[in-house]
Amino acid sequence: MAYKISLIPGDGIGPEIAEITMKVVEATGVKVDWEVVRAGVEIMAKEGTPLPLGALESIRRNRVALKAPITTPIGTGFRSVNVAIRKELDLFVCLRPCKIYNGVRSRYENVDLVIVRENTEDLYAGVEYPQNSKESQEIIRLSNSKIRECSAISIKSISAFATERVVRYAFEYALRCNRKKVTAVTKANIMKCTDGLFYETARRIARNYEDKIGYEERLIDNMCLQLVQKPELYDVIVVPNLYGDILSDLCAGLVGGLGVAPGANLGNDIAVFEAVHGSAPKYKGLNKVNPVALILSAKLMLEYLGETNAASRLEQAVSDVIMEKRCVTYDLGGTAGTKEMGQAIIEKL
Ligand code: NAD
Repeated sequence: MAYKISLIPGDGIGPEIAEITMKVVEATGVKVDWEVVRAGVEIMAKEGTPLPLGALESIRRNRVALKAPITTPIGTGFRSVNVAIRKELDLFVCLRPCKIYNGVRSRYENVDLVIVRENTEDLYAGVEYPQNSKESQEIIRLSNSKIRECSAISIKSISAFATERVVRYAFEYALRCNRKKVTAVTKANIMKCTDGLFYETARRIARNYEDKIGYEERLIDNMCLQLVQKPELYDVIVVPNLYGDILSDLCAGLVGGLGVAPGANLGNDIAVFEAVHGSAPKYKGLNKVNPVALILSAKLMLEYLGETNAASRLEQAVSDVIMEKRCVTYDLGGTAGTKEMGQAIIEKL
């Protein structure tokens, strides 16, 4: 039986990497009936919105989607189509494994950590007021002179509800994947209410796992230092939205760059798999960029579907091609194109 899966080809380099990724999935032997749905800047011209209802309905119906990157159109009212998809479908976990493959250009060895980023709140919720607006004036008044007059204001919100579910996911993931430790990261020494609530909730959840999975806390600034000095010390990292966004790129840098960094957005029963990188418009149509980040996102998708054998064969094929260095893209020090690197992975499979 074939899995029915929504496929969003996206913008910029999206369609090229999506096409080769579909072929790689086919080469694993797992049968997929792709339902191709459009979202992004190109569809906006036709339908007046970068996120047509049909795209969301398809993902809701199929429950699983593979999504190539989408350009954030400027001046549409959409802060980001990607953020809107996560919000509409309540995909509250952003999972970003960062693992080093032999042969990538990196200063490090033995990095194998996973970022579990909260995906629905924090400063990403988009509650912002321009300077001199009625709302910002009101908040400035309430702040008792702590906020300067004429400030623009963003609201940071952290709830026990959202923290609990993402921390629980991090511990369950650690159990399932034989991980040893969860590190919660915040700036709770300064943001005592919001990040303090994140820690308080994380500690409460951690108690349920204390005989099985270790728990520790780090402040975000110290975590950045630790990650560039001793990344091998870290395992599963659970983190509020904005710090998670920044740490994900930092960790992608540890393991060879955006070309090899996969991701997944997960809700209770819907999952959207996508690379960490964006649509890199300057490389559009050049057959130049690395398809591995989306291919490894498809590997996460196969695991999610329970196709663990196909997923590990796919990862092995990617790892072999990277290690041999004969057919890799520019970011890994080679001269191969997107299609050629994808084809090399298919041949390994
Ligand atoms: P980007 O990730 O698209 O590209 C930044 C640079 O990273 C590129 O110029 C390139 O040098 C490198 N890079 C990215 N992907 C690569 C790959 N597969 N192989 C090799 N090198 C790669 O970031 P940006 O330029 O800041 O954003 C471009 C657009 O993408 C923006 O509109 C942004 O909003 C959007 N975006 C979308 C997503 C998403 O769809 N999830 C994520 C991030 C950014």
